[in-house]
Amino acid sequence: MVPRARSGGRRAAPAVGARRRPARRGYNRAMPHRVTLIPGDGIGPELAEATRRVLDATGIEFEWEVVDAGEAMIAAHGTPLPDSVLESIRRNKVAIKGPITTPVGEGFRSVNVTLRQALGLYANLRPARSMKGVVTRFEDIDLVIVRENTEDLYAGIEHRVGRDAAESIKIITREASERICRFAFEYAVANGRRKVTAVHKANIMKLSDGLFLESARTVAADYEGRVEFEDRIVDNMCMQLVQKPELYDVLVLPNLYGDIVSDLAAGLVGGLGVAPGANIGTEAAVFEAVHGSAPKYAGLNKANPTALILSGALMLRHLGYPDAAARLEDALRAVVAEGRSVTYDLGGNAGTSQFADAIIERLAIAPAVAS
Ligand code: NAD
Repeated sequence: MVPRARSGGRRAAPAVGARRRPARRGYNRAMPHRVTLIPGDGIGPELAEATRRVLDATGIEFEWEVVDAGEAMIAAHGTPLPDSVLESIRRNKVAIKGPITTPVGEGFRSVNVTLRQALGLYANLRPARSMKGVVTRFEDIDLVIVRENTEDLYAGIEHRVGRDAAESIKIITREASERICRFAFEYAVANGRRKVTAVHKANIMKLSDGLFLESARTVAADYEGRVEFEDRIVDNMCMQLVQKPELYDVLVLPNLYGDIVSDLAAGLVGGLGVAPGANIGTEAAVFEAVHGSAPKYAGLNKANPTALILSGALMLRHLGYPDAAARLEDALRAVVAEGRSVTYDLGGNAGTSQFADAIIERLAIAPAVAS
């Protein structure tokens, strides 16, 4: 495993997303892993293909079940998310997904929000770690954002009050709050992380955010002596992340703050092109980049595959292959640090597929591991 590069002389710990546990229950190493692959819209198909090739090059055996979701499905199925996609993910329990365009003002709900709710993907995991070769204003960032994925203002309960007012209802429950906080603490324990910070605005929303904070404190008590706990008010958290990010480790947040703070964290390490993500539930997990379908670059072999490839590394860890994940991240980091085969956004002029080829070449010279 790769020790984390950190400032402040903190102890080295396993890489972001590393798991101590071996292969997950229910997966048979003798069989290839059947994974649902959703290419998606815009730049999605090119990134998905690059990611599939790179994952295959790790030596872990996959059987890819390719299913389509997105804009092109609307004409034939009347929805961007045909039932067959949900069925495939339910069957395989693991999916990797390219971005999907959300048509504006046509009455379709976001495929991403629907997937999360339909599959109970309650935890959104977004690691943000600096990479040599990616020019940013910050160095040695190593944060993990754990965002609650099912409630808060994303519950979608809104109504107009007369002509000139509207209300959105924020739902916070003890059950969902304790569940996401437990996920954050379990993640911290499994990955050698030292601290969990709960982020809220309980000074103003005393009932809803107050319940989230109360739930975080309840869960934290079970981990006393193993994982440090503290809380921060969300506005102060944003300032602190910009001023002294090295003080923070794993952050756990309700849905809306999680959305905003995870983009802030992505900005600290180089932006959307390098920000991976995972949506994890009890029955299934869907791995995807934080960025969208960037339609203007579709089909140009131009977009950066880093975020989806790093999401693939998170998938390898989820499946119980931490060593293969670390090899993949090392190969990617080496290619980015070298800077010769990277895409335009990282200052290079390679295409998506050449970037993937360079990573595959690196993987070929890295010693194979049995994991
Ligand atoms: P976007 O992330 O698609 O693109 C914004 C800009 O970021 C692009 O124009 C491009 O300059 C840059 N960019 C993004 N990804 C890149 C990559 N891999 N390589 C290089 N540059 C990259 O955001 P948007 O324009 O707001 O959204 C476009 C569509 O994507 C919308 O329909 C939106 O709903 C959808 N979307 C989907 C997801 C998802 O499927 N998870 C997430 C966000 C947005």
